[in-house]
Amino acid sequence: MLLRSHVKVLSLAIVSFLCIGGLVLFFVINTRSIPSEDPLQKLLAGNTRFMKGKSIHPNQTVQKRKELVSEQKPFAIIISCSDSRVPSEIIFDQGLGNIFSIRVAGNIVDSVELDSVEFAVDELKVPLILVLGHQNCGAVTAVLEGTHAVDDLKDVEPYLLPALKESKKLPGDPLENAIKTNVWFVIKSLENKPLLSKLIAKKKLQILGGYYELETGHVQILNKKNP
Ligand SMILES: [Zn+2]
Repeated sequence: MLLRSHVKVLSLAIVSFLCIGGLVLFFVINTRSIPSEDPLQKLLAGNTRFMKGKSIHPNQTVQKRKELVSEQKPFAIIISCSDSRVPSEIIFDQGLGNIFSIRVAGNIVDSVELDSVEFAVDELKVPLILVLGHQNCGAVTAVLEGTHAVDDLKDVEPYLLPALKESKKLPGDPLENAIKTNVWFVIKSLENKPLLSKLIAKKKLQILGGYYELETGHVQILNKKNP
């Protein structure tokens, strides 16, 4: 009798253990999303995962896709280059609904891109804009060296030229200086827009610059004092 009751208790314990284990596993698999941190920390944590080859590809399930049909709440706007090697969602290991992505050669902002930024900031309440330049940017290289065909980049070039001219005063690598100076020029132009400057003053919006290294996958957040 005693042995039978022990077996019963043991069986119950094993079944309970398996059930709880199963539930935990189910929970982990189905809630594999990004921890709630501040927007920049979320981006940097994702970039670290990507750099180390440990991307978790969050928010890419069929369930997540369906959840997002009626609304989106991206936590960052990323203005980056159209370059095929710099896809924001991949290099920051994000998924559906995370990033409001604007991509254009040379990561410039003209009136069309600005409209997109203002929509995201105003309607979607996105608190962070990251302007992201990248190593060996073809658009910046072509304009810097004057090697592009007449019709290529003809509307992008005027946006790049002032920054490229300014960057020639800096010591160090001319291309890297040009790419980073362009990021600062884009940030400055955004900060001067009335809607954005008002939100910055209220501390509801932050605009940062970054530089992506193709080989390491690292995104360096640029420092205004030491670009
Ligand atoms: Zn580029």
